[in-house]
Amino acid sequence: TSFEEMGFSTNALTDNIRRCKYVKPTPIQSYAIPVAMAGRDLMACAQTGSGKTAAFCFPIINGVMGIQRRKRLVNHSAAASSIACPVALILAPTRELSCQIHEVAKKFSYQTGVKVVVAYGGASVVQQLRNLEKGVDILVATPGRLVDLIERGKISLRNVKYLALDEADRMLDMGFERQVRRIVQQMEMPQPGARQTMLFSATFPVEIQRLASDFLSNYIFLAA
Ligand code: AMP
Repeated sequence: TSFEEMGFSTNALTDNIRRCKYVKPTPIQSYAIPVAMAGRDLMACAQTGSGKTAAFCFPIINGVMGIQRRKRLVNHSAAASSIACPVALILAPTRELSCQIHEVAKKFSYQTGVKVVVAYGGASVVQQLRNLEKGVDILVATPGRLVDLIERGKISLRNVKYLALDEADRMLDMGFERQVRRIVQQMEMPQPGARQTMLFSATFPVEIQRLASDFLSNYIFLAA
């Protein structure tokens, strides 16, 4: 399948894919994107360089645009709020990876109205808070900094509909399991299955399998 046939409901995203000269989906993209577009949870085995970032970013951007469209239809005006309520969350183990994902998500959200913000540790929280206050639809974050921002009352995960965990094995290796579990507990949607979760990992030790069975529901396993 080509990107045109993947069922993105917005021309803006397809235009951005074309503009960035992504012509042919990589294997992980051609497996994962249709599964995600069908609304299913997934766990994917994917290495760096496989094109995994776009594999979770494209369906998320498409889904967030759908949410925005429906909100406009019911004439729901976004109330100004000092607490940021993203509808999508992408978790990554390191500052470097979160910045790379942020760049990709921003590039493909161009002219879509979707706001992407990044928050990582080891940097001043002031600028990150300022970015959050301008509004956020997709939040890219490292687990420690996100827990900190939740505790400060700056972020609520109650509206999160899309969750992606990138390099989940590295997050566990770096000792983030407790934080990751706390974060996911914050976003239990009222109806089970209302959240769509995508877990990406290079390896599948028993700890990752346990995360998958705790966080995903009725998921599809992909190894590209
Ligand atoms: P990633 O594995 O997500 O870090 O992506 C690795 C590199 O491949 C990045 O530089 C992407 O810009 C590039 N890339 C990902 N998907 C495609 C595609 N379908 N066509 C061309 N380049 C791509």
